[in-house]
Formats: sequence, structure tokens, C-alpha cells
Amino acid sequence: MTSPETETPTCSAKGCRDAAVWVLAWNNPTLHTPERRKTWLACEEHREHLSQFLGVRGFLKDVVKLGEWVQPEGSERAR
Ligand SMILES: [Zn+2]
Repeated sequence: MTSPETETPTCSAKGCRDAAVWVLAWNNPTLHTPERRKTWLACEEHREHLSQFLGVRGFLKDVVKLGEWVQPEGSERAR
């Protein structure tokens, strides 16, 4: 509540407040056009868990370091 690091992107895993290190880019072909990318953020600890969640559904497209991630045109920003 008093954290000064409000600008640090945090992990998308439920209940996790750790700083994000990875960007998981995914696409649900039944909802999204193929070039569309949704993104989740993950800390070091949750990268595998979240990639697996997306991977088993066939949604996972890319896992990129947060610092190297470039948001593709027309896709949604991570929240
Ligand atoms: Zn996490």
C-alpha cells in the first residue's frame, strides 16, 4: 500500500506482486485474429506456470524478456 514502486510492472499470476521479468505473448485463435497478441507479465517464478497454462491450450506464441519486448502494432497493452 505504501510501495513507491507503482511504475514497476508486476507479475500477472494471481496474488503475485513481484516485479515482472518476462512477457508472455499469446493468442486465442477463436477470439483473436492471428496477428493479434495478448500479453501477460511474469516474474521469474511464475514464468513456467503461466507459459504452461497458455501452452497446453495452444495459445502461447512467445516468451520475451520484458526489456526486449516490443508491442506489435494493433495488439493490446499489458495491464
Ligand atoms: Zn509471479
